Amino acid sequence: MPAHYRGRLAPSPTGFLHAGHAATFLTVALRASAAGGTLILRNDDLDGARCKPEFTHATLEDLRWLGIHWQEGPDTGGPHAPYSQSERLSSYRAAFEELRTSGWIYPCKCSRKEIASALSAPHPGDEEPVYAGTCRPKIPTVFEHSLPATNWRFRIPEHETLRFNDLLQGPQQCVAGRDFGDFLIWRKDGFPSYQLASCVDDSLMQVSEIVRGADLITSTFRQILLWRAMKAAEPAFYHCHLVTDANGKRLAKRDDALSLRSLRAAGWSPCDVASAITEGRLSSLSTPPRP
Ligand code: GLU
Repeated sequence: MPAHYRGRLAPSPTGFLHAGHAATFLTVALRASAAGGTLILRNDDLDGARCKPEFTHATLEDLRWLGIHWQEGPDTGGPHAPYSQSERLSSYRAAFEELRTSGWIYPCKCSRKEIASALSAPHPGDEEPVYAGTCRPKIPTVFEHSLPATNWRFRIPEHETLRFNDLLQGPQQCVAGRDFGDFLIWRKDGFPSYQLASCVDDSLMQVSEIVRGADLITSTFRQILLWRAMKAAEPAFYHCHLVTDANGKRLAKRDDALSLRSLRAAGWSPCDVASAITEGRLSSLSTPPRP
């Protein structure tokens, strides 16, 4: 890992950012600046059906409005360009080949629904049941790439207890095969899964600490296995508490009321939004500010 702190913001341009994203992204930015480090903006736009350039544009604008500045990104460039995942397919293909030739992955014909959602990070409600192992070979096997187009799955070490120390949430552990199963790496339409793309980018961009929502802790375990398989160093982790609405429900991009655009249009300043988030009083933003 580089001695220099490198953090990343990794928004998916599938909608407008809301107060929940702001909470995570402000934490990312604060930790990078407290460490005197570099902040990278990575545009997670692999899912062509859900990602739209106008959302990328709006995301960058909203992040700037919040007062967040990054040193590397799709707009600023940098030593690890390109910073949009849709332009980084050759790096993902190289990682796929490495995993294939070392027997970590196998072709799979199952789970249409999971395949459809594999391009995005699995947030609560999107997690798939543990894979039943229908296509899993009995022993690790190197499969030819010349097979007809197929989906590929990563072979997890069943029953192994995996651990990491989260810088906010403390020691974390889970059991492979019980808490998650063999997961998708590559889709037959030629796209990598979020798990592979995110790991490859964090590694190539030399991210030293990943700050993201606590709903991605299970994905962190999957990614730890991928870094191990690719013989890459794993970064440090800081999983933020999730921001919920007045009913305790996680905020979603479709909840327009708490989108940063709506809050800004209602007259709230970035400072008001940041303090309402850190003080846990999001409901105070539901009525317009006093003039
Ligand atoms: N683009 C992913 C998301 O918005 C990022 C997940 C991550 O931070 O790795 O959920």
